[in-house]
Amino acid sequence: MQIQTDIVIIGGGVSGLCTMQSLIKLGFKVLLLENNELGSDQTIRSQGIIHGGLKYALSGSQNAASEALKDMPGFWQDCLEGVGAINLRAVKILANGQYMWSTNRITGGITSLFASNAMRSAVDVVPKEQQPSIIKNSAISSKLYKLHEIVLNIPTLISALAMPIINSCVKVDRNSFNFAIDPIGNIQYVSFTNDGNPIEISAQKFIFTAGTGNEVLQKQLGIVPNMQRRPLHMVLLKDPQLSPLFGHCIGLSSAPRLTITTHIASDHNPVWYLGGKLAEDGVALSSEQQIATAQHELTQIFPNLKLSAPKWASFYVDRAEAKQEDGSKPTSYTIFSKNNYITAWPTKLALAPILAQQIANDLKDQKLQPNFNLATPQLDQFVSPKIATPIWDQLL
Ligand SMILES: Cc1cc2nc3c(=O)[nH]c(=O)nc-3n(C[C@H](O)[C@H](O)[C@H](O)COP(=O)(O)OP(=O)(O)OC[C@H]3O[C@@H](n4cnc5c(N)ncnc54)[C@H](O)[C@@H]3O)c2cc1C
Repeated sequence: MQIQTDIVIIGGGVSGLCTMQSLIKLGFKVLLLENNELGSDQTIRSQGIIHGGLKYALSGSQNAASEALKDMPGFWQDCLEGVGAINLRAVKILANGQYMWSTNRITGGITSLFASNAMRSAVDVVPKEQQPSIIKNSAISSKLYKLHEIVLNIPTLISALAMPIINSCVKVDRNSFNFAIDPIGNIQYVSFTNDGNPIEISAQKFIFTAGTGNEVLQKQLGIVPNMQRRPLHMVLLKDPQLSPLFGHCIGLSSAPRLTITTHIASDHNPVWYLGGKLAEDGVALSSEQQIATAQHELTQIFPNLKLSAPKWASFYVDRAEAKQEDGSKPTSYTIFSKNNYITAWPTKLALAPILAQQIANDLKDQKLQPNFNLATPQLDQFVSPKIATPIWDQLL
């Protein structure tokens, strides 16, 4: 079977789905190929925080990483209200802000940054009487700040992005992928088998938004992958007694000691999802060791935490990003163009919609036009991918 379309996107996480939405708006016919479930890798494991960059300014000053994220809370707020670049009205918000507090004396740098005029609309100081008891009774040695950074329910985000375009999303077996390349290096078509039948899809442009999967795709095209992985070892705690908490507890380092978000599992019990330095420092630990470290951290930070039927789990996951000389986090998203294909990494979920906008702008600049003579492809024989299951419902 041969299919012709304007654009093929490979990888249906947040960046592939946002990119598809942006390109369909320009009139392109787009097919998205997903190997697993939509959002099944990094996106479903994300903590859902729409960063405004303050987490990256803990050394006390704004920098390229915090600048790149500074406008994201407002950008997403418009989308959530249905007046932004992508309609995200169906997305559920888990929290309207996040707390930030320290177990050590906060350095003067952050205190003055948070007190500065530039930060006035981004941060509030929470008076003692309004502090949640879980923090009031914790090892807090600083003011309690509230960052105006919302936290999203990620399955509802994936669903809101995917549902309007689900009929153009196709589940594929990536192990059967082959690319036909013409003499000047352009991809002519991607071929694979579907239910034993050979399929060829040709397009003007191919866009790879496959997260860690971009590495193999680049190798298949004969180019040296320009991707890096930054691993994490995340921890999950489910217990009926947990109160909702969203925030960064900071210690002595310029990265949060612990980042906590709260989610509701399918059995209606709350889950604390634990990241931050705990997850970065724990990559060499076994699951048992990492859970023991998390238990120790929680006892230190929340000496009065009461649990009645705790269930713990941990898992390893890689963040996939464009390669940096020193292995550090890229300060923003990356779009890498070669011949008629693009490889893209958003670096943060919060940056995915502007990555998508930038890809759309790049195609406009390249004067790529929709081919209005193309017939709408008949995709009845394909299966649409499902929305990924939250990680706590997979593991707990
Ligand atoms: C633990 C964790 C917490 C995070 N928390 C936050 C946060 O709170 N806020 C924030 O802004 N960012 C956060 N991030 C970063 C954010 O999740 C990622 O930047 C973002 O989700 C990446 O999206 P993506 O679509 O590029 O990749 P992915 O979500 O990894 O999606 C890639 C998709 O491609 C598919 N795929 C792979 N190979 C192929 C192939 N060959 N063919 C077809 N399909 C393929 C995969 O199945 C997957 O569905 C977090 C990341 C992690 C790991």
